[in-house]
Amino acid sequence: MVNECYYNTYDRKERLHFDSKVVHGALGCDPMTGAVSFPIFQTATFRHRAFDISTGYDYSRLQNPTRQELERTMAILEGGMEGFAFSSGQAANMCVFGLLKKGDHVILSDDIYGGTYRICQDIFRNMDCEFTYLDMTDTARVEAAIRPATRMLFVETPTNPMMKVADIAALAEIAKRHEILLAVDNTFLSPYFQRPIQQGADIVVHSGTKYLCGHNDVIAGIVVTASRELAEHFRMQMKTRGNGLAPLDSWLVLRGIKTLSLRMERHDGNARKVAEWLSTHPKVKKVYYAGQGGMLSLEVDSVDTVRHLLSDVRMILFAESLGGTETLITYPLTQTHESIPSEVRERLGINERFVRISVGIENAEDIIADLAQALNMV
Ligand SMILES: *Cc1c(COP(=O)(O)O)cnc(C)c1O
Repeated sequence: MVNECYYNTYDRKERLHFDSKVVHGALGCDPMTGAVSFPIFQTATFRHRAFDISTGYDYSRLQNPTRQELERTMAILEGGMEGFAFSSGQAANMCVFGLLKKGDHVILSDDIYGGTYRICQDIFRNMDCEFTYLDMTDTARVEAAIRPATRMLFVETPTNPMMKVADIAALAEIAKRHEILLAVDNTFLSPYFQRPIQQGADIVVHSGTKYLCGHNDVIAGIVVTASRELAEHFRMQMKTRGNGLAPLDSWLVLRGIKTLSLRMERHDGNARKVAEWLSTHPKVKKVYYAGQGGMLSLEVDSVDTVRHLLSDVRMILFAESLGGTETLITYPLTQTHESIPSEVRERLGINERFVRISVGIENAEDIIADLAQALNMV
């Protein structure tokens, strides 16, 4: 009975548009009861009815039905083979770098998320792994940096916080030719705008905390693999490190995903309007916007302007993180990129006059009015 329901609904959903897939997930409703909201299986362990008989669930560190629904939903949305839901984006990335063996080399984007930089520099470098950071929008430079020990390309696109856009298909082609892995951090655009596996990537990783959950109320991480072979690595990592996402948090992310399309459309529309307005403001020197999505960065004329912008916003919140319903303004220098060496930050342009905005889903006029009044305080 359970299997029949599963296969029927799964078949039908494969043909749906993305906007419908986000609503209906993998199983969608509970196969046993028909509950439209997928249940939160708040259990540590599962009863075996008899010797050698299992429901397929043993212990929630290994498998949990609510987490599995989220994992399968993400595999469907990214067009991958299998999904994994971790306790944070950091936990997910730890497992991506957990693929490395002693002596391996990785090429990464130069303006990478600060936490990812720490994973490489503070943990894996001590295990004799080597890392090269460069502008991965320059595919020729990426290919030139490949060595015999190179095992993986790790790209964030658009980058954080400079919004540089890399060519995933071109990087995938290089990775295939050199028989190395391509991992893409897809946090900034979400599968609504970008599906790296369909462009040839091997691994997609997300901070599920951001657009996937979308409500600034959960910390979560997602990995989707292109192959079953890679999935085995992540299954083993989750089982061994014990970093799977809890059932309630899995449910909250699933619930967030139902409105992913709606939210991304609104984030995108609002961000365009805000970017356009900012680019004409006399105190704004430069606006960085990737052309889609809800993230933008800007450089203003003085530290004084930054101080007012961060302190005098009323509706907009001065807080780190991104991708939620609320517009957040962040100061990368001290909040997200403090781990990056100052000379690297300076070269990238992350200076004391640089701020990042995660444009929320409020009315765009209110966001602009709030920025206007804070900028005019100076
Ligand atoms: C936030 C973020 C992470 C880390 O995710 P957490 O959920 O905070 O652990 C990784 N990559 C990017 C691009 C992020 O924005």
